[in-house]
Amino acid sequence: MLSDRLFLEQQARACGFSSIRIATAEIPPDAERYEAWLEAGYHGDMGYLENTSELRLDARKFLAGARSVVVLGMDYGQPSPPDPGGLTGKVACYAWGRDYHNLILQRLRRLRKSLEEAWPGLRARGSVDLLPVYERAWAKAAGLGWIGKNCCAILPSEGSTFFIATLMLDRELPADGPMADHCGRCRRCLDACPTGAFLGPGSLDARRCISYLTIEHHGAIPLELRPQMGRWLFGCDVCQEVCPHVRLGKKKLEEDFFPRHAFLPLGAILEASDAALLDCFEGSPIRRACPERLRRNACVVLGNIGDRRAVPLLEQAARSASPLVQEHAIWALERCL
Ligand code: SF4
Repeated sequence: MLSDRLFLEQQARACGFSSIRIATAEIPPDAERYEAWLEAGYHGDMGYLENTSELRLDARKFLAGARSVVVLGMDYGQPSPPDPGGLTGKVACYAWGRDYHNLILQRLRRLRKSLEEAWPGLRARGSVDLLPVYERAWAKAAGLGWIGKNCCAILPSEGSTFFIATLMLDRELPADGPMADHCGRCRRCLDACPTGAFLGPGSLDARRCISYLTIEHHGAIPLELRPQMGRWLFGCDVCQEVCPHVRLGKKKLEEDFFPRHAFLPLGAILEASDAALLDCFEGSPIRRACPERLRRNACVVLGNIGDRRAVPLLEQAARSASPLVQEHAIWALERCL
């Protein structure tokens, strides 16, 4: 058993994963809490979470005969480039570089292949984000960090700026246990959240979260939350930026995640065609927010900057063919005049 474990760790590290833990493929202890969260509607427009909840929480439904869940971490943390200020919007750190899905899927495939070669007859299925797997629950069960009050998995050595991938195996491996919570009395993330999105420690109302509002939410951003969004154009890092563990985290630089899009010019986003925006964000997580949502967000950020230089841009956006962009541009114009 132990040599299987060491072999797995060695292979996972050779494939570029920075942390490796193992859980038994049972329903994770967080399942009931997750279901209650969904029932309360805190997931907002993310209907796909509700539609796939059964599959997300039971590894055996994801891979028949699953016995172990290998939980893998890959660090994306990077030092921030200088803020150019002016009429620019901020992007969450995980989206500064190339889209992580392809890179992680390639690494998962390599890892699966090496395990299949060593363990003939092995059945394995990997996932990162795109498939219905509740990665954070597996991270908690396997002890790939503790789940902080900001709902992120946190590793003492790496903070919370790492992606989580899973590889389900139909082979029994010695499982790790959950990691002790190191948040203690700290509540910086809860107090710093600009929109008050935390319902309490470890519980988030996604409908108020800036990441959700700028990326997943399709409609108008609630009026009362727009001023709190500040300069966040795509995602938000506030609850991680204030976390002492993230600031202390030791960073390994992954070339794919070098910052390409940390700050974006808002005028260019409003003026570019859909095709140009899609082209510009080819291979970037920013593509998840379609051009219309990016322009909606750009209007909110310009309204929050409140600079008269934005008026011509917003006047043009107020004549957009999209009623969503029009309405946000008119809101922003009133704050810039
Ligand atoms: Fe925990 Fe404090 Fe980090 Fe929040 S900011 S996750 S309370 S250590």
